[in-house]
Amino acid sequence: MRIILLGPPGAGKGTQAKEIVARYSIPHISTGDLLREQVASGSELGNRVKAILDSGELVTDEIVMEMVDDRISRADCAKGFLLDGVPRTVKQAEILASMMDRRNVALSAVVQISVPDEVLLDRIRIRGIANAGTRTDDTAEVAAKRLEVYRTQTAPVASYYKDQGVLKVVNGVGSVNEVSERIFTSVGA
Ligand code: AMP
Repeated sequence: MRIILLGPPGAGKGTQAKEIVARYSIPHISTGDLLREQVASGSELGNRVKAILDSGELVTDEIVMEMVDDRISRADCAKGFLLDGVPRTVKQAEILASMMDRRNVALSAVVQISVPDEVLLDRIRIRGIANAGTRTDDTAEVAAKRLEVYRTQTAPVASYYKDQGVLKVVNGVGSVNEVSERIFTSVGA
């Protein structure tokens, strides 16, 4: 199973990603987590990345896709993986497509979790309180910026996959179980 999970910040991608990887026994690849690891390592790249994360803007396609290429080359990804938080731009989707071609593998599903804006902002606010001190990008101001970046740069990724006929849109309002059942049904396995 090679699955991409799409959805705006606050849609519950992280929560649902855990359910999906448990169900299909595949590794969870979150570019947000990989970037935060870079920041925590205190490397020179990490310092540059921190400023971008804190602003709510996107890290460059090259940095992110190089990390993804490295990660999916590892042995645990041979039978599949879940991508969470990537692709975030159409350019990233195109780079991913060429990485998959090079490996002679195909995507199994692209799932978009859909949640209305008011619910998203509420959820991000709650997460900001819960994560105070650990995630410096969960303030209301940065949350609004991340939502705007999603609309302008990431929403076209859903259209890209829709045009290819592989996009499944799942209603993200409901309990964790309700939403994951919808996802499993849409993936069809
Ligand atoms: P996330 O944990 O997925 O919400 O990502 C947190 C932050 O990491 C984002 O606001 C971006 O600054 C950065 N980031 C994560 N994934 C990507 C990506 N695929 N492309 C560019 N920036 C990313």
